Amino acid sequence: MSLGYAGKILWVDLTHLEFREEPTENYLEWIGGRGLGSFLLSKHQKHDNSPEGEFIIIAAGPLVATGVPLGVRTAVSARNRLSGGISYSNVGGDIGNRLKMAGYDAVVLYGASPTPVYLLLQDSRAQLVDASSLVGLKISELREALSELHHASQLSFLGIGPAGEKEVAISCLIADRAHAAGWGGSGAMFGAKRLKAIVAIGDQPVPVFDEARLRDKIQQLNWRISTSEATAALIKGGTHGMAGAGGFNGLVPTAVKNLQDEYLSPEESAPIGEETFKQWEFDRVGCLGCSVRCLHMYEMASSKYGKLIGEGMHANSIRGLASNWVVDDPEALLKAHILCNEYGLDVDGVSAAIAFALDCAEQGIIPEEQDGGVYLKWGDGRSAVELVRQIGEGTGLGKLLGKGVFEAAQEIGQDSQQLAMTVKKVGINEQGLRSHRAWALGVMTSTRGGGHLGGSPQTENRRISPQIGQRIFGNPNAGDPGAYQGKGKIAAWTEGLKCVVDSLGLCYFVYGWYDLSIGNPAELAELLYLATDIKMTGDELHRWGLRCHTLERHFSHVHGGYSREDDELPERFFQSKIATGPYQGAHLDHEEVEKMLDEYYTYLGWDTQTGLPTQDTLKGLGLI
Ligand code: SF4
Repeated sequence: MSLGYAGKILWVDLTHLEFREEPTENYLEWIGGRGLGSFLLSKHQKHDNSPEGEFIIIAAGPLVATGVPLGVRTAVSARNRLSGGISYSNVGGDIGNRLKMAGYDAVVLYGASPTPVYLLLQDSRAQLVDASSLVGLKISELREALSELHHASQLSFLGIGPAGEKEVAISCLIADRAHAAGWGGSGAMFGAKRLKAIVAIGDQPVPVFDEARLRDKIQQLNWRISTSEATAALIKGGTHGMAGAGGFNGLVPTAVKNLQDEYLSPEESAPIGEETFKQWEFDRVGCLGCSVRCLHMYEMASSKYGKLIGEGMHANSIRGLASNWVVDDPEALLKAHILCNEYGLDVDGVSAAIAFALDCAEQGIIPEEQDGGVYLKWGDGRSAVELVRQIGEGTGLGKLLGKGVFEAAQEIGQDSQQLAMTVKKVGINEQGLRSHRAWALGVMTSTRGGGHLGGSPQTENRRISPQIGQRIFGNPNAGDPGAYQGKGKIAAWTEGLKCVVDSLGLCYFVYGWYDLSIGNPAELAELLYLATDIKMTGDELHRWGLRCHTLERHFSHVHGGYSREDDELPERFFQSKIATGPYQGAHLDHEEVEKMLDEYYTYLGWDTQTGLPTQDTLKGLGLI
C-alpha cells in the first residue's frame, strides 16, 4: 500500500449499479485531491452532455487524515454545468477524513441511477442504498435522517438538498452541515444522477511514511499556526471579520449593487459586520480537528423569520447576500445564508443571479413586482430572502435565476447581458476587481470561471512589504494593490501554489494564502515526503502545480472553447469607478490588463495570442 493514502480508488457505475476498485498507486504522478480529479476528468470526460456521460470525481489528498493541521480538504472535479469548462471545488468538514478512513482516496462517479440512491462507504466496502425516503430533504433533515439510519459518530456525508434534486444549475454539494463545494453546479449533477449523497463512515488510521518526523513537523506547524498574525485574525473573526465588508480596518472592498460599486465605509457595513454579529455568536466550529475553527455559529432567538440558527457565514455570504443587494438587515442576511445551505445552493451563484435581477428591474428591463410578493428593489431583504427560497424550489422568478446569470440574461435579452456580471458564463460575487490588480487578474483568468480561489493572491490585501515582495516574487510592488507591473507573474505563481495545496488536501486559508510564511512550496514538499515518501523539491512541486493548472486550462478549452478573449471582466469594471473610500476613483485600464495577461501567459509557457498552452508546453509537461 502507498503510504499516506488509503490505497484505493472506487469507480461507481450508477447506471448499472456496479463498482470496481483500482489501486491509488496507479496515479501517484497526480498526487491526489484536485490534481488526481483533474487528471481523471481530463482522461475520461467525453463530449457527451447526458447525465450518464458526466464524470464527477471526489478526492481527498495525501495529507488528509494524517494529523497534519488543517489536512481536511476534499476536491470535487467535474465539467462545469454553467461554463462547460472545468469545475474544481474544495470542501471542508469531515468528509475527506472519513472517506480515507473508510478505505478510499477517491470516488469516480459516472452514469445515472434509475432510482434515488446514496453511496455508503464503510470498512473498505461500498454499497448503493435506496434513498427514496431521503428525497426532498433539506440538508439538516438529511443529516438527521442519516444519523438515525446509521447511528455512527464517525459518519460524514456530502450531499444535495432540494435544489440539486431539481437540477438547479447554481446548486452545490454540502458536506455535513454548512461546508459547501460551490461552483460548477455539482449539486445539479448529483441530482441528474439521482445520487442524494455520499456517506462515509470510518476510523481506520492512514499509515504515513515517516511517523516520527511527521509528528515533529506537526508540532512545529501547530505552534506556528497558533502564533501567526494572519491566522490570529482568522481565529478572532473568521473570514466574516477578516474579509467581509468593513474588515481590515475598513480597507476591504466589497461587492455593492451588482458590482456597480465596490466599497462600503465601516459605518455603512456595520449592520452586517462581524462585530455586530458577535451578539448572536454562541460557538465557533471547524472542519474535523482544525484548531482555527473559523466557522461562526450564530443564533437569533427571535427574528421576523422566527428562530434562526446558522453556521459558517463566510465573507462571500456577507458581500453576496447583503452588500451586493444593498441589504443591511442582519436577519435577512442570516436567513438567506441558512436557506442557501438548506437547499444546497451556491452562495456566489445566488448572489450574482439576484443582483442581476435587481439591476434589470432598476433599468426597467424586467418588472419590479414579481410572483410571491417579491419586489425587485435594492435593499429589500424580505424579497431577497423569498427569491433565494424560489431559486431553491425552482418556482417564480427563481426558476429563471437558478439557471445562473448568463443563461438568465440570454433568455431575458434586451441588452440585459450588459448587466450580467460573469466570467466564462459563471456569475461573480467579487470584491477588489477595480482596485487590486493581481486579484482581478486571478478572477478573470480563472479556468473555472470567476472566483478568487485560484490565481488571486493575498499579497495586495495584506499589503506585504516591498522587502517581502522582492524576496518572494522579485517584485517590490507585490503588496501595492494599484500597481500593474509584475502582477501577471504573481497571479500565475499563485495558481500553481493553489493547485498544490488543493491536491495535498490542506486548507488554503492558512497554507500559503493569508500567511505566505506557512506552506511555501518547500514546506509543502517536505510534508508530502514525510507522509508519502514522494520526494520533490519545492520548485518541482510548484512546477507540478502549474502543470495541473495547464491541464485544467486545456480541458476548459477543449470542452468549453475558452481562450484569451474569455479572460476578461465585464466592461463595468473599466468604465465606472469606485465612488468612495480608500480606493475612490479606481477602475481597470484595458491596455494595462492586456500587458498583465501577456506576462501571465508567458510565465506559464502559454501562447500570448491565444492564451492557450502551446503544443511544446503540453508535450513538455507530458499532457499530450
Ligand atoms: S481554517 Fe476554517 S475552513 Fe480551514 S480547515 Fe479550519 S475550520 Fe476548515
